Amino acid sequence: MPPKIVFMDLEGTLFQKNRRLDNGLVAPSAWTVLAERIGKECLEEEEETKKRWILGEYPGYIEWMRDTIRIHQKYRLNKSLFDEVINEVQFMPMAKETVNTFRNNGVITVIISGGFKALADRAQKELKIDHALSACEYFFNEESGEIDHFNLLPSDHGGKVSFVKLIAKEHGVSLKDCVFVGDGKNDVTVAMTVGFSIAFNAQPELKKVASFSIDQRTGHEDFSAVLNTIHENFTSG
Ligand SMILES: [Mg+2]
Repeated sequence: MPPKIVFMDLEGTLFQKNRRLDNGLVAPSAWTVLAERIGKECLEEEEETKKRWILGEYPGYIEWMRDTIRIHQKYRLNKSLFDEVINEVQFMPMAKETVNTFRNNGVITVIISGGFKALADRAQKELKIDHALSACEYFFNEESGEIDHFNLLPSDHGGKVSFVKLIAKEHGVSLKDCVFVGDGKNDVTVAMTVGFSIAFNAQPELKKVASFSIDQRTGHEDFSAVLNTIHENFTSG
């Protein structure tokens, strides 16, 4: 029996990882790519916020995002640069085919991301994903192109777990019949929530807790490996 619901992380899982920016501190993401593209000073300030995050200096993820957005605004991030960064992220090889297979088998598919809604929207539209949670949505001013307003959701450790439970409950599915696939240390708690979890070319913290690890050589990543892994190792709870 296939699982009832498959929850998938976005960056480094359905989208390719930016390994160059992975310093092990946090899961590498478009947050860092954006900061780098805005400029050296912005990247340096953003790296400082990550260090503070790890030291537990922010009450929660929303406060970290707020501080990072303050930096984006200070360096005048505009919509065209934002769109450029969002649109250049590449899908993981075989992501679309794999999600199609899930859908053809009646599996409900869900994205869980601590990143930008614009990126989750791209994946949800292209891959026809059923549900998605992301953390930050920017609203840009139509004249200046700069950030006007934003919508933040607590899509971090606790928030991701709550969302998984909400969606499972909505579909009347036991957490044992849910699968999670991710790659980052920020996926540890959510991975431990479901019956079967896969660390996909993941950071060591996630590999340690996941039910199964897939490790592929850089440049040879293939998301369809999760199909075999589930087929051979997942047993319905
Ligand atoms: Mg990730």
